[in-house]
Amino acid sequence: MVRPVMAKVRLYVEHALGAAQPVPLTREQAHYLFGVMRLGQGDRVALFNGADGEWQAEVAEAGKKGGILVCAEQSAPQALPPDLWLMFAPVKKARTDFIVEKAVEMGARRILPVTTDHTNSERIRQDRLQAHAIEAAEQCGGTFVPEVAEMARLADVLARWPDNRQLMFCDEAAGGGGLAGAARGPWAILIGPEGGFSQSERARLTAMPQAITVSLGPRILRADTAAVAAMTLWQTTLGDWT
Ligand code: SAM
Repeated sequence: MVRPVMAKVRLYVEHALGAAQPVPLTREQAHYLFGVMRLGQGDRVALFNGADGEWQAEVAEAGKKGGILVCAEQSAPQALPPDLWLMFAPVKKARTDFIVEKAVEMGARRILPVTTDHTNSERIRQDRLQAHAIEAAEQCGGTFVPEVAEMARLADVLARWPDNRQLMFCDEAAGGGGLAGAARGPWAILIGPEGGFSQSERARLTAMPQAITVSLGPRILRADTAAVAAMTLWQTTLGDWT
């Protein structure tokens, strides 16, 4: 049996994928494939668009400002991560980038930056974080790119919280609760800012019937460490690692 040639480069595209489907490239994609990665006509690229799975495509036209790939065969079906949102209060730029990248690798369905009473970073560039999420999906072999939502106030997000979505409230002041006995279904993880949660936020969160207060151990973790630890705990207990 002749095995299909598998591409070394993976690319997210905003275009339909299917057998013999031509996919035009943007200027940036053409620069990356032909200028940086030095691919040329006949070379293969793995494509995904978040809906049609992964396809092996061949370079049909390669130019400085554009190009065309043509899909050959599907190499992976479309797969969704579990219905898990990661909510976090942005911290410094590099650590916020890290949180977004790790959330994609670890299997978040949606990423929601929120401002809290003690948030130390009031502004984010949503488009930049979304581009980071795309890069992370390209690297980790996923076929899905989670949406990075625009920054919202935690109080506003909680005011319209869905009845059926459980909330893993990670609180460094919690007395040691875990996820034992928690049910599967739609979930969200909440990680606070470097300054922690205010007393009024704690009161609001612990009064929510959907919320479970969870400890991540006896030491205080930085927000980026806490995001990875919380996702690991959730994935191994309720997610798709089990
Ligand atoms: N201001 C807090 C302090 O100094 O006491 C530290 C906040 S911590 C740097 C940032 C966030 O990570 C917290 O709001 C919480 O969501 C999460 N976190 C850190 N350590 C945790 C732990 N041991 N258990 C649960 N959550 C934790």
